[in-house]
Amino acid sequence: MSDDRFAILGGGIAGLSAAARLREHGLDVPVFEAKDRPGGLLDSFTLETAEGRWTFDNAVHLSFASEPEVRAVFDRTPYLSHEARSLNWDGGLWIPHPVQNNMFPLPAEEKADLIVDLSRHLAQVHADAPIATYRDWLLHQYGEKIAERWPLRYTRKYWTLDAGDLGIGWIGNRMRRADLREVVFGAVSDNPPNTYYVSTMRYPERGGYRAFLDPLLEAADIRCGLRAVEVDNRRNVVTFADGRSRPYRRMISTIPLPVLVALMTDVPDDIRRLADTLFATSIDIVSIGFRKPNVSPSLWFYIYDTDILASRAYSPSIKSAHNAPEGCSSLQFEIYSSRASGHGLAPDGLVESCIRAVEAMGLAGREEIALTHHKHLPFGNVVFDLGMEERRDVVRGWVESQDILLAGRFGEWDYLWSNQAFMSGRAAADALAQAAR
Ligand SMILES: Cc1cc2nc3c(=O)[nH]c(=O)nc-3n(C[C@H](O)[C@H](O)[C@H](O)COP(=O)(O)OP(=O)(O)OC[C@H]3O[C@@H](n4cnc5c(N)ncnc54)[C@H](O)[C@@H]3O)c2cc1C
Repeated sequence: MSDDRFAILGGGIAGLSAAARLREHGLDVPVFEAKDRPGGLLDSFTLETAEGRWTFDNAVHLSFASEPEVRAVFDRTPYLSHEARSLNWDGGLWIPHPVQNNMFPLPAEEKADLIVDLSRHLAQVHADAPIATYRDWLLHQYGEKIAERWPLRYTRKYWTLDAGDLGIGWIGNRMRRADLREVVFGAVSDNPPNTYYVSTMRYPERGGYRAFLDPLLEAADIRCGLRAVEVDNRRNVVTFADGRSRPYRRMISTIPLPVLVALMTDVPDDIRRLADTLFATSIDIVSIGFRKPNVSPSLWFYIYDTDILASRAYSPSIKSAHNAPEGCSSLQFEIYSSRASGHGLAPDGLVESCIRAVEAMGLAGREEIALTHHKHLPFGNVVFDLGMEERRDVVRGWVESQDILLAGRFGEWDYLWSNQAFMSGRAAADALAQAAR
């Protein structure tokens, strides 16, 4: 029987793992999901053409979960393992990732310039130099020439901001630190060691990334098609778009933090103002199916060229051959925008820009395309503009004083991978269960 005292908002992995953990605590708490099915960002979708059935995810999605709690769920779905190797497309060259450790394909003169600049920089760098922005961090790591050549350019495409406007709290192990020996080695050898921050990535054999969620869906009480449109935080009642409402004593919210605050009825002005400053990138994903195998040169790749809108692409058919009909292959491109900077293109224009990118990279001809598809994801990555974490923490602290626990990538408003979003939902469930005792 459902426990009337509690509710979970949002049926992505964080909401689903919170519900599963609450069941372990003996609490059956319903999950209210706006869409017509659960999964959130981890949902997958299928398309049919004369060639057969195609499966795509919502952006790249591979699992590198190490937490036993996550593995206990994900590993129940048969999966494939991939070596974490990717490429970069830059001005007509395919360069293995990370670029600064794989400069072999570059002209000798350019490599020499970049390495000399880095070594001069490393000789002068002061360990205690202040690093306030991502730009400072990049210059500190790589020196001016390498930073300008790649990451500063890429930042504008991926984060939609200049690196000088971004903080550094999100970097963690996502960026490889500069190591002169690694850089020199990769400039003289075409086969340097892979220095990506994880070695193996897992993906369901069938059914797209969503299949990893299947065990969480088994016993869950998920109520789909219920978009929360008001949270009366004085009376503790949530109202949905269809007019139904539900009282709660405590609630776990995994919906985007600024959206939640906008739905709340009784919010101090300063909290509302701070919540309004939080923003995320949106992602337009363009999926393309090809009537020929092996179109993509790697599992995923980054695109530096500024005349190509997409920042990144990956191949669903390399993730699993079951994602494309026999003899076919597929790509999906990610195009980022935000309130700071937009592309201003309609879906047709976005699809056309990706087809041109495929042609420019020499991957396939237009006549080999079996399908194109566009989808808009309103919430992609939380943007760490300067001071965001301080503002977010104030908002979070206030919301959590209102009988609402926050979980997930957008509930916590943090750069969480799917395994971290899972753990975040679980932690919120533990806190709720403890308070319920
Ligand atoms: C481009 C990109 C690539 C990624 N790649 C990887 C990867 O390779 N590996 C990895 O582990 N992770 C990856 N991630 C991260 C992963 O997608 C997230 O960590 C995870 O999906 C977040 O789950 P969540 O439940 O926190 O949020 P969501 O999945 O967003 O779930 C929130 C749910 O709330 C619902 N909702 C919103 N508003 C309302 C409302 N008003 N009422 C009711 N419901 C509502 C939404 O419909 C949604 O279902 C990637 C993310 C992005 C953007």
